[in-house]
Amino acid sequence: MHCFECGKEYGEEPASSLCDCGGVLELVLNENFPTIDDFRGVGVWRYSSALPISRRIQSVTMDEGNTPLIRTKNLVPERELQLFVKNEGQNPTGSFKDRGMTVAVTRARGIGANTLVCASTGNTSASAAAYAARAGMRAMVFVPSGKIAGGKLVQAIIHGAKVIRVNGDFDASLEIMMEEAGKRKDLYVVNSLNPFRIEGQKTGAFEIFEQLGKKVPDYVILPVGNAGNISAYWKGFSELKKWGIIERTPRMIGVQAAGASPLAEVFLKGKDDLVKWKNPETVASAIRIGNPVSWRKALTAVRDSGGRLLTVTDSEILKAQRDLASKEGIFVEPASAAPIAALRHLRDVIEKNSSVVCIATGNGLKDQGVVPVDSENLPLISSLKELEQYL
Ligand SMILES: *Cc1c(COP(=O)(O)O)cnc(C)c1O
Ligand SMILES: [Zn+2]
Repeated sequence: MHCFECGKEYGEEPASSLCDCGGVLELVLNENFPTIDDFRGVGVWRYSSALPISRRIQSVTMDEGNTPLIRTKNLVPERELQLFVKNEGQNPTGSFKDRGMTVAVTRARGIGANTLVCASTGNTSASAAAYAARAGMRAMVFVPSGKIAGGKLVQAIIHGAKVIRVNGDFDASLEIMMEEAGKRKDLYVVNSLNPFRIEGQKTGAFEIFEQLGKKVPDYVILPVGNAGNISAYWKGFSELKKWGIIERTPRMIGVQAAGASPLAEVFLKGKDDLVKWKNPETVASAIRIGNPVSWRKALTAVRDSGGRLLTVTDSEILKAQRDLASKEGIFVEPASAAPIAALRHLRDVIEKNSSVVCIATGNGLKDQGVVPVDSENLPLISSLKELEQYL
C-alpha cells in the first residue's frame, strides 16, 4: 500500500485512509500474479486471487458483482456500434458501490473495526448500511442536507445506519466526516478514497473481459463523481495486461455533468491541477461533486489509456435515461445515463463498429423523484365500457 501522490508506503491504512500528505492510497500486487485459472466462483470473490484480502478472513458478502452485460438493440444502429450496458444496478443494494463495499468491509472485519463511516450522496451510505448489517457492525453515514434521493435514504435507514445530515453539500459532508474519523480509532472510513473499495470495484473490468469471451472492449465509458470507479476499472484492465492475460487495454472515457465538472475542466484545459468547484449542481446527484478525491488517479487513467473526459447537460442526461428505459428496458438513475448521453458527443471519436461498454452504475428505482408522474391525470376507468371508450 502506497500513496498515489508522494509514494510513501503503508502497512496498514491510516485512520483517515489518506496519506499524511493528503493523497489517496493505492494497493499494488508485486508477486504471485493471478492467472485466468485462478478465477473461480462467481461475482467479486471469483477474483479473490487478485484481491488484497487474506483467505483466513471470512468475506462479508451478498453475492455482489456478476452483473449482466447487455448488448443494446435499439439505442444505436447495431451495424454502427457494438454497444453494451453493464447493469450495475443489479447489485444487492442497487449500485456498483457493493463491489467495493464487500472488500472494504471484509478488510474492516480483518482489522477488527466495528463502526463503518462514510459521507455519501446516497449510494455509498445505502451500501455501507447494508454491509454493516450483514457484518454485525454499526454504520454512521453523513449525507448532504439538500436533495438526497429518497430511495437511497430509505435504504440507509432500513438497514439501521445512524444517518446524520450535514448542512451543506457532499464535499462539506466528507470534510466533517474525515475530521471526526481522523480523531477516532474505532471508525473505519468506507468512502471511495478507501483503497480496498477500489480493489473490489476493479473486478467490474475482469467481468467485462470474461463476459465478452475473453476480449477487451475498445471503449469503456463511466460517469465520474469522486472519480474512484473510473480509476478502479483502469486498474483492473491495467492489471490484466501486467499479468499477461490481455494484450491491450480499452480507452477510458469519463463523463461529468456540466454543472459539476471540475475534472473534465482539468482535462479539457490541458491543466495539471484541479480547482475545486463550489456549489456543484446537477440532477444526477450521485455525481454532484465539486472536489473529486481520486481526481489524479482518474486523470492518469484517461491520459494513459488514450481516452478523454467530457461533459453532458442535465437535459441530455434525462433524455438518455428515458431512451435507455424506453428503448432497451433498462431503468437507471440519472448519473448512470451520463455515458449514454455522451455517445452523441463522441460520434467523431469512436470508430465505426467499435465495441463500447457503458457502465450503468445505479438502479433507477432509487431516485424516482426525477421522473415526472402526474398520476391524477392518468386515465381512470370503472368498467369495460369506459375502457373501450377510452381506447
Ligand atoms: C458513486 C456513483 C457514481 C460516481 O462514482 P465515482 O467513483 O464517485 O466517480 C456514479 N453513479 C452512481 C450511481 C454512483 O452511485
Ligand atoms: Zn502521500
